[in-house]
Amino acid sequence: MGKTIIISNRLPLQINISDNKIEVTPSVGGLATGLKSFHQEGDSIWIGWTGLSSEEIPEDLQDEVEKKAMEQNCVPVSLTTDEIERFYYGFSNRTIWPLFHYFMEYTEFQPEHWEGYKTVNKKYCEAVVERLDDGDTVWVHDYQLLLLPEMIRKKKPNVTIGFFNHIPFPSYEVFRTLPWREEILRGMLGSDLIGFHTYDYERHFLRSVNRILRHDINFNSVNIGNRIVKSDSFPMGIDYNKFRDAALEHRTKPRSENTDIQKKLDYHKYVTRNTKLILSIDRLDYTKGIANRIRAYGYFLEKYPEYQEKVRLIMLAVPSRTNVPQYQLLKKEVDELVGRINGKFATVNWTPIWYFYRSMPFENLIDLYCSSEVALITPTRDGMNLVAKEYISTRIDNTGVLILSEMAGAAHELNEALIINPNNFEQIVDTIKQALEMPEEEQIRRNKVLQRRLKRYSVEKWAEDFMTNLKNTRKTRKAFK
Ligand code: UDP
Repeated sequence: MGKTIIISNRLPLQINISDNKIEVTPSVGGLATGLKSFHQEGDSIWIGWTGLSSEEIPEDLQDEVEKKAMEQNCVPVSLTTDEIERFYYGFSNRTIWPLFHYFMEYTEFQPEHWEGYKTVNKKYCEAVVERLDDGDTVWVHDYQLLLLPEMIRKKKPNVTIGFFNHIPFPSYEVFRTLPWREEILRGMLGSDLIGFHTYDYERHFLRSVNRILRHDINFNSVNIGNRIVKSDSFPMGIDYNKFRDAALEHRTKPRSENTDIQKKLDYHKYVTRNTKLILSIDRLDYTKGIANRIRAYGYFLEKYPEYQEKVRLIMLAVPSRTNVPQYQLLKKEVDELVGRINGKFATVNWTPIWYFYRSMPFENLIDLYCSSEVALITPTRDGMNLVAKEYISTRIDNTGVLILSEMAGAAHELNEALIINPNNFEQIVDTIKQALEMPEEEQIRRNKVLQRRLKRYSVEKWAEDFMTNLKNTRKTRKAFK
């Protein structure tokens, strides 16, 4: 049995440098949780970028950064500011991200970004190959590293390679517009197994492979000469127990120990006679449908004025990719919309929208999930959307209503939520009303089903399923030879 190498754009680490001292702390994102059992197994390692450019790490500290990362079984890939600009902000976030989320008008096709993307994928490849032996298993993650499977395959044909795409894969008619479509598909096809969140993304990918590269597709397999590449859907879950336990703790905590946010939530509920809270949490990204959500909420207050002073929208927008122009424009638009609606409807006792532009610690996220009667999640496109799953998992008494866009991958699994089309304004507005008026028994009935499903298909199970399927491709490979 060989070792496992995990590769993602970012390492599951936070590195802080101050006064020539380095602090390395593990970051506890969903992916890191799911992969924990594989990552900490034997001599397995995780390869990725630290989040700091090579210019930001003083030369005399670089060895120490590597050493400290290695203590966590992590190997840093060093990237210059210029590489980050072209590979990360450029090709990854101005070409692949908008194109794969159907934002063609935002998609840039710049050859220098493409060159940067190739160069950095090669850098990752070198870091992997240096540590790779025949018989090892490699799991590559996400849209920043689409070329990596083929690059590794060329250098090490006898390893098992898996790739998971964490964002949507667009339909062939959209994907075909990419000038480098053949290279991207060939890059992915270096894998033995390619995973997607949903069946639809998988079919889109296979159709593109068939139309663009003319490979034969047999159910979910691609035949390439003497190799078979499998694809399948593995909807990513959450660390269900972590959210559940935190919510249980939240419920039993004495009031005096509440966080400031929770105290504020309680106080305002009291003052405004049990105002119901509608929660919205996302990175500030144009794919999340934030501006339309605010507009819809404004229209809701207008169409159903009896709800004025009876509801509040709590909007947490986490800063993201702030040096990409579309994100700056969106920030401006959201600021203006919040201002306009608060200006129009606010009373002495009531502000219709509480808007936070920052990220919040886990404890405060739990406060928000546990205190909100409704979660309103309306992306125009979203690979999965974990916030929807997290909200449901924290509803200890099983009340609460999730309104979820049909364009989120999560909607395929969360049928008992109120599913909306994020472009249908009237529908969103009427669904908000339906959510606020839903009888408790109905809420409980729906949430019990959802919770059972989320518990069963947790992020650990997701990782285990992918790995089992990946290792099984070895048998097929042998049989095929
Ligand atoms: N999140 C966070 N801090 C915040 C707000 C959100 O860590 O202040 C987390 C949230 O708990 C969730 C993730 O960020 O796990 C967002 O994942 P999702 O799939 O919803 O969207 P993405 O940002 O990956 O597009």
